[in-house]
Amino acid sequence: MARYSGPVCRLCRRAGEKLMLKGERCSGPKCGVERHGAPPGQTAGRGRRRKVSERGLQLREKQKARHMYGVLERQFRKHFAVAGSRPGVTGENLLQILEMRLDNVVYRLGLADSRAQARQLVNHGHIALNGRVTNIPSCIVRVGDIVSVAELARKNGYFEGYEEELQRRDIPGWLVMDPQKMSGRVVAAPARTDIDSRLNEQAIVEYYSR
Ligand code: SF4
Repeated sequence: MARYSGPVCRLCRRAGEKLMLKGERCSGPKCGVERHGAPPGQTAGRGRRRKVSERGLQLREKQKARHMYGVLERQFRKHFAVAGSRPGVTGENLLQILEMRLDNVVYRLGLADSRAQARQLVNHGHIALNGRVTNIPSCIVRVGDIVSVAELARKNGYFEGYEEELQRRDIPGWLVMDPQKMSGRVVAAPARTDIDSRLNEQAIVEYYSR
């Protein structure tokens, strides 16, 4: 499965904000944005960022969403096409689809520190969807679906004693987690208020509408 394999902190610095792509490290002093601030290739405190056109701003918003969810352009366009074919507001549909990707749900349930790590857990067959192991991070869950740690994976070092860790995690209202069973359920579709308010879905729609 294709994925971005370059330096991820560079993506945050280019976006000019913290996209939280590295789990715990993002909240500490080692964060690339905290340490360098300036966009890559531009030394902090020197030079000025060029004025960005409207199109450039739309592109930046699209890239930001893409990088936050760890989705390549082709897949992102597919999600956008599905969002446009659904009733309702395309931008909100798109964010809902991104939020309901299996890798994101694994991350939101607290089973991983970052979406990249969640994606890896799915790729390696550590996650089951409705009791069956699935290795497709882009699959979209539905209301009522059960996402759990696969039986064999529970014996793996990563999940040993993880029940306690899960009790400390904040879970969004559209998901319910049973830490003892390491199993979560999708109880509703995420509302816009459940999704990162920094995302500008209108700009993304405008970007693709030209
Ligand atoms: Fe972005 Fe996290 Fe790297 Fe900070 S540590 S620059 S938030 S990926």
